[in-house]
Amino acid sequence: MLGQAYDGRALINGSRVHAQDGQTFDCISPVDGRLLTTVARCGQADVDAAVAAGRAAFEDRRWCGLAPAARKRVMVKFADQLLAHADELAMMETLDMGKPIRYARSVDVNSAANCLRWYGEAVDKIYDEIAPTASTALALIQREPVGVVGVIVPWNYPMIMAAWKIAPALAAGNSVVLKPSEKSPLTALRLAELALEAGIPPGVFNVVPGYGAEAGSPLALHMDVDCIAFTGSTRVGKQIHVMAGQSNLKRAWTELGGKSPNIVFADCPDLDKAVEAAVGSIFFNQGESCNAPSRLFVEASIRDQFLEKVLALVPGYAPANPLAPDTVMGAIVDQTQMNSVLRYIALGKQEGAALLAGGEQALLDTGGCYVQPTIFAGVTPGMTIAREEIFGPVLSVLSFTDTSDVLRQANQSIYGLQAAVWTRDINKAHGVARALRAGTVHVNQYDEDDITVPFGGYKQSGVGRDKSLHAFDKYTETKTTWIRIDSPV
Ligand code: NAD
Repeated sequence: MLGQAYDGRALINGSRVHAQDGQTFDCISPVDGRLLTTVARCGQADVDAAVAAGRAAFEDRRWCGLAPAARKRVMVKFADQLLAHADELAMMETLDMGKPIRYARSVDVNSAANCLRWYGEAVDKIYDEIAPTASTALALIQREPVGVVGVIVPWNYPMIMAAWKIAPALAAGNSVVLKPSEKSPLTALRLAELALEAGIPPGVFNVVPGYGAEAGSPLALHMDVDCIAFTGSTRVGKQIHVMAGQSNLKRAWTELGGKSPNIVFADCPDLDKAVEAAVGSIFFNQGESCNAPSRLFVEASIRDQFLEKVLALVPGYAPANPLAPDTVMGAIVDQTQMNSVLRYIALGKQEGAALLAGGEQALLDTGGCYVQPTIFAGVTPGMTIAREEIFGPVLSVLSFTDTSDVLRQANQSIYGLQAAVWTRDINKAHGVARALRAGTVHVNQYDEDDITVPFGGYKQSGVGRDKSLHAFDKYTETKTTWIRIDSPV
């Protein structure tokens, strides 16, 4: 499908609509700089319309009033719709944000579909509770949908980030207003069309593309939104909590940045596997992953040997055309993000880190946004590239002497999303895993991932968890109903 055919209008109350003031913004592909389409630049009036549609749907119970088994059937159909349109969605995602088509197809589409299916399948298998009170009363503890859920997502995994929130929110019976990133709005709009085709009633799932300040803030500040679920930067995440407090104290959940430490001890059971994971995980998705292990800590005694193996793998990640089937490293999402990555690389050099590979923009003649896979060694904890999230293909390698030294360095971060430890010593593995302040700790691997496990961070990596049954907590209220029992006996 040609990019020009993409429909960039919002989807509100079951219909594709222009922004009420007719404003649009350009959707440019980072693959080659071409204009893909123009997209509705939604603002307050459009957000108001979408929230009103969501509220009306919630009030007349067209969705939340269905039996869980009925919602399940629709959610499963929604998942099937994604798979039936997998090639189209993968192409759209790749053109819009630059990731290799092989991963857009095998990871993003499949993972989003699996998430929709899993929450759909779960919702008719969850029971409410009866509290163990005295026999003169019956106390029912029931889950109810919160109402209208605002969802704001970033651009790095547009479909997956949206699915992690809309799947549990919709399955639980809520209405949703989704604001995708202005850098990658297209698949969210298409998902909402597929949801309608699957049988999600009009008004239940609305999408308002636009800029953060113009469409995101009105959603976070809206007096008729009951919950805001946000994934993005820590900077904006903090504002989301403020906006929730300034308005109606809506429930606010945030999945934010990371600077994950990856710790390799000299007794690592398989150095080659550790090297592959260290390199593959930082360069996957062009380094634009919140959980990318961007700080690699190598025990001093194996540092040189490890670095040699790392450098040998780097050429295999040279950026290439994201539409080519064997490409593993694609384009950075846009010029602004590419310039930000290049600025961090310049800072790394200025502050005295040793640039061992990459460091430059690549494929300039394409008109797209590409950066070479970049490795810095000799990084110390105070350097900017060791502290701040770069969100690009840049690995900072640090060194340590013993366990207490590395724990001190690893936990010296405002973030606490993920971490990894490589050792054959089971005591050390458990001890370090316990001491690391992170939502997820990997032991002797970095790629395990499943919808059944919670995902989220400690510290300034956010509040709340996506994925797993725990995610339902975010989109449901707990209601207690006391019933007095005047026992005849
Ligand atoms: P961002 O914070 O700039 O934007 C995220 C979303 O918020 C976008 O839709 C944007 O339009 C919107 N937004 C921006 N300003 C806003 C405002 N004032 N009010 C309301 N909404 C606003 O982040 P980004 O650059 O799109 O994404 C990268 C960040 O996302 C990284 O920090 C990354 O670590 C994080 N991330 C976290 C997770 C996680 O699960 N923890 C997953 C993916 C990405």
